Amino acid sequence: MNVLVINCGSSSLKFQLINSDTEQVLAKGLCERIGIDGSLTYQPAGGEKVKSDKPMPTHTEAIQYVIDALTDAQTGVVKSLDEIGAVGHRVVHGGEKFASSVVITDEVLQAIEECNDLAPLHNPANLIGINACEKLMPGTPMVAVFDTAFHQTMPEKAYMYGLPYEYYEKYKVRRYGFHGTSHSFVSRRAAEIVGRPYEELRTIVCHLGNGASICAVKDGKSVDTSMGLTPLEGLVMGTRSGDIDPAIMEFIAKKEGLDIAGLMNMLNKKSGVLGLSNNLSSDFRDLDAGAKEGNKQAAVALQVFAYRVAKYVGAYAAAMNGVDVIAFTAGVGENSGPVRADVLGYLGYLGIEVEEEANNTRGEEITISTPDSKVKVMVIPTNEELAIARETVALV
Ligand code: AMP
Repeated sequence: MNVLVINCGSSSLKFQLINSDTEQVLAKGLCERIGIDGSLTYQPAGGEKVKSDKPMPTHTEAIQYVIDALTDAQTGVVKSLDEIGAVGHRVVHGGEKFASSVVITDEVLQAIEECNDLAPLHNPANLIGINACEKLMPGTPMVAVFDTAFHQTMPEKAYMYGLPYEYYEKYKVRRYGFHGTSHSFVSRRAAEIVGRPYEELRTIVCHLGNGASICAVKDGKSVDTSMGLTPLEGLVMGTRSGDIDPAIMEFIAKKEGLDIAGLMNMLNKKSGVLGLSNNLSSDFRDLDAGAKEGNKQAAVALQVFAYRVAKYVGAYAAAMNGVDVIAFTAGVGENSGPVRADVLGYLGYLGIEVEEEANNTRGEEITISTPDSKVKVMVIPTNEELAIARETVALV
């Protein structure tokens, strides 16, 4: 079956058409600047990437262009919409309502909408994408795959904050966690690679991208993760602060005359390694280059990042009474040998030994620990689109 995977943002829409039997990507692309002017980037497998300007007042036009490109006589990869068996939608927040992916019905749409408060920037955009697809592909089954669902197995002690209980009762303020599709995909793959049952393994997945989170997966279940009610908590990220003393907010607000919106903008967009490097860059390639040229703040940003990751790995090893596998994934985790080496440098006490040469490879699935290492350490490229396609096929 061919599955169209859609990841819809407020002004952008990423898509991939995946053949679920061969797991090959038939075509992929991106619509940008929806509601402003609009452009479509489209690339069929083995073909050239072509970008063209298209008027996209709403997501409905964007999806119509995607369908046109996929079924085009010259560059298309299917003859008609009949050859698309299902659509898998990435949905950011499923709250406590969704512990797994679901076939989309009117009730499901209503329940996703009820989670809008928890992810006001993301869920409404995801819903717009679903509605536009339903309009243009009536009768094609649609599945929602949630970033939060994998973490619904966390125990109360991991998801409750030390706040008045009434906020949990009234507003469901708790840890939800994100990147669940990636953490699930990578931890399952880790079990396959080490050849042990997923249900008996303790894995720590380090999803280190522009957004970054860590997850403790014990016996096939997420038992803790570093992101919280929102994706702002936990690791120091590209532009997000991660954990800070909450009282800093009042202190800075008074000093700088910032309101809540100003504070949130600072914590989400101006902090992380970007802020730490004194605005040099949020991209680890630039920070590496800067540090090599003697930029002290770039070096400190990299050190703070790795130190925070190592502290979380230590915490999750404690939470699971040990760890069998540590897996690195996403842009930084897959590509940066130096960041991995910095993190692993703190973890010798776990009996970890690293193969330096293996750690210097980039972007491929590889075990980077020595055969004698007490904990297996590996790099596993994540593939959230494939994971969404698999979930979609399983449900339809
Ligand atoms: P993601 O959010 O998973 O797409 O990751 C994007 C980030 O990966 C970029 O902002 C870079 O910081 C990082 N990245 C990509 N390639 C490399 C590389 N070769 N070395 C270090 N970092 C990289």
